[in-house]
Amino acid sequence: MPLRNMLVSQRYLIFIVVTLLGGGFLTTSLLSYYVSRDSIRNTIANTELPLTSDTVYSEVLKDILRPILISSMMSRDTFLRDWAIASQKDPQPLTRYLREVVTSYGAYTAFFVSESSKTYYTANGVLKIIHPDDPRDGWYYRVKESTTPYEFELDSDQAHHDDLAFFINYKVYDYQNQFIGVAGVGLRANAVVKLMDTYQQRYDSQVYFVDAQGRLTLTGTDGGPDGAHAGRSLAELSSTRPLLSRLPTPHGGSYEYSSEGQGHLLNVRFIPELNWYLYTDKREDIALNEVRSSLYLNLLICLVVMLAVMALLYRVVRRYQIHIEKMATLDTLTALPNRRGFDLLVVQAMREAQREREPLALLLFDLDHFKRLNDTFGHLAGDCVLRGFAHVLRSCLRKADIVCRWGGEEFIVLLRTDSEHAQQIAEKIRLRTEQQAFAFEGQSLHATSSVGMTMVGEGDTLQSLIARADQALYRAKESGRNRLCLEPGPTPP
Ligand code: GH3
Ligand code: MG
Ligand code: MG
Repeated sequence: MPLRNMLVSQRYLIFIVVTLLGGGFLTTSLLSYYVSRDSIRNTIANTELPLTSDTVYSEVLKDILRPILISSMMSRDTFLRDWAIASQKDPQPLTRYLREVVTSYGAYTAFFVSESSKTYYTANGVLKIIHPDDPRDGWYYRVKESTTPYEFELDSDQAHHDDLAFFINYKVYDYQNQFIGVAGVGLRANAVVKLMDTYQQRYDSQVYFVDAQGRLTLTGTDGGPDGAHAGRSLAELSSTRPLLSRLPTPHGGSYEYSSEGQGHLLNVRFIPELNWYLYTDKREDIALNEVRSSLYLNLLICLVVMLAVMALLYRVVRRYQIHIEKMATLDTLTALPNRRGFDLLVVQAMREAQREREPLALLLFDLDHFKRLNDTFGHLAGDCVLRGFAHVLRSCLRKADIVCRWGGEEFIVLLRTDSEHAQQIAEKIRLRTEQQAFAFEGQSLHATSSVGMTMVGEGDTLQSLIARADQALYRAKESGRNRLCLEPGPTPP
């Protein structure tokens, strides 16, 4: 196979191996990533979020329902009702009562607004007389008109420098079911928001409440979807607007939506005690961070392994290729370059000699009566003499000289030297061959060689050079063998 084709097929082999390996690696990595991703999404949607929702719900019951219960108890309290039904002349007992609620239950504020006198009582005494035209008192008239027994609302606390607070405004009725006022407690707003933050941190999810009209009622510090805070409607938010049509009333469920390019998994749960929905919202990318990092790690390993395999394969193939090239240019019997190897070396040497105007001599050796030697001692004996003669050649030449087995029992030597020195070397080889005893299976074999020599001249080609050396060799054979004959060439370059 020509070397070029061999190179192409080696590159093709490396390409195939790397493609197979890389493709296999990539497929398994991606497959395991998608399987893990789906299983994590399923676990989040069907187990983690519902569980978080349950836990938050029970915490909410503990943390938010408690003030509702206190307010509910206040609205049913016989002392409060008796006091409200009676003259209400002395505010002291009520103030004491409200102070007791604040200290015993740890409420931020406790209040009662009387329907008959429109007086707003707090733990510190009378705060003000409410008026229907005062927008800050609007809450009272709204609660009075509402059909529900109580309201949970975020408002500024007039008794505490207008700090934001969550109020539980519970309607109070007398024993004939006549509306006689509103009582309740307040929770400091930032305490409630902190509570939400605690839930969110603990459960690694966003937690917020939405009322039956789809308005955010309670969020953590960072807000709910799109960072929106209490008071905003889900219908106003670009990420949750499409979700609204799918949301149930008043049951919960699992949903998916995307906000700012991020996928979200959502669990919605109705809290009948508040008439609110609890939203437990988890960003997919946070949940999938771990599997994504393991995918990246897998891909990195895949890349490293592929590069290592490529480097290894390239090394092996390159070595093999060098070996094959060597084999193709070497003669196996004598380990000298063969005709192909000689062709590669000689062109370069002739070009250099002609350019540098240096003398170059060509010697063509042929063993004498070799056929007879073969016939007498056998082919293996002939081989032994050929190997021995190659050894003689090597021992008489320098590393820089070019020598090759031209074919059969013929050898070529190319010497970068002048005619005189080349003749001396040729003579030396001839003489050493003549004197050499080649040992084969206990026998001593002898051989002689004839040499045809010529010098590289102006305009010489390898063919013209060999043709002259051949003529010289012919003359050496003709004139009795075991000798050197010269064939003069054109003028030296
Ligand atoms: P001359 O002196 O005229 O060169 O006679 P010769 O017998 O050497 O020349 P001829 O060309 O008739 O014979 C060459 C022989 O070399 C014939 C062939 O069998 C033998 N020969 C060629 N290659 C090999 C080889 O690899 N091993 C062995 N043992 N013999 C070889
Ligand atoms: Mg011959
Ligand atoms: Mg011969």
